[in-house]
Amino acid sequence: MDDLLTSMSDTSAALLDAPDAVATNGNGVATVSATAMIVLEDVRKVYEPDVVALGGASFVIEKGEFVFVVGPSGSGKSTIIRLLLKELEPTTGRIIVGGRDLTRLKRSKVPLLRRNVGCVFQDFKLLRDRSAFENIAYALRVQGESNTAIRRKVPEVLALVGLAHKAASRPDELSGGEQQRVSIARAVVNHPPLLICDEPTGNLDPDTSVGIMQLLHRINTAGTTILMVSHDREMVDKMRKRVIALDHGLIVRDERRGGYETE
Ligand code: ADP
Repeated sequence: MDDLLTSMSDTSAALLDAPDAVATNGNGVATVSATAMIVLEDVRKVYEPDVVALGGASFVIEKGEFVFVVGPSGSGKSTIIRLLLKELEPTTGRIIVGGRDLTRLKRSKVPLLRRNVGCVFQDFKLLRDRSAFENIAYALRVQGESNTAIRRKVPEVLALVGLAHKAASRPDELSGGEQQRVSIARAVVNHPPLLICDEPTGNLDPDTSVGIMQLLHRINTAGTTILMVSHDREMVDKMRKRVIALDHGLIVRDERRGGYETE
């Protein structure tokens, strides 16, 4: 199990391993360090005709970081996630993920980008009529993995999330916390260098949430960069991780070892 964790940081799929030539600003000066996983450079996003969802957001998240993005409803958190997955294009500004400038990334490369960015959602997004094993296997099959690889990888990742004994259970036979573990397993089975979590503990009780956070912490410690949107004040305060706070589409705080609110 630990072998799997250790390998996560160095077996990432091709896209994020082969970045564009070092990005430059208008003067030809390098602006992106090789150690950056995510760079937002003055990103504005206006939903037509005139909703300013992001009003010029800039930050750098280094490889291996664990970062919370917090802020009230409507502050732009989901917009950032959708931009990072190239579901949306910025109105202006530049977004670089794993060295790749997403504004220059061809449409045909978007599936490869998504394979390099694991996603975990508040509502788990599991197939109701499939077992835990099948939910993870399905994601691998879509990516063209062989049955041999699936039979090897799925039990490994189920063990990693502590659910080896629930491989045959369908979502309605699992607790909320267990369902979220399956969805985390599905997100990390192919060792993405970046994991984006959108309110992963939003539907879970506090004790269960602690277990999920411990699992994500372990995945991060093994090398996976994590960006997590969260409304869970207590959790954000407890973790003492970097916190980027948004309000009305602007970054109002970026603290190394922050809490949900400024103390
Ligand atoms: P959060 O995730 O923090 O709740 P969002 O990124 O969803 O915030 O939204 C930021 C702003 O953009 C809000 O004012 C929201 O109403 C608006 N918005 C989000 N998606 C759309 C859309 N598809 N069309 C128009 N406005 C949108």
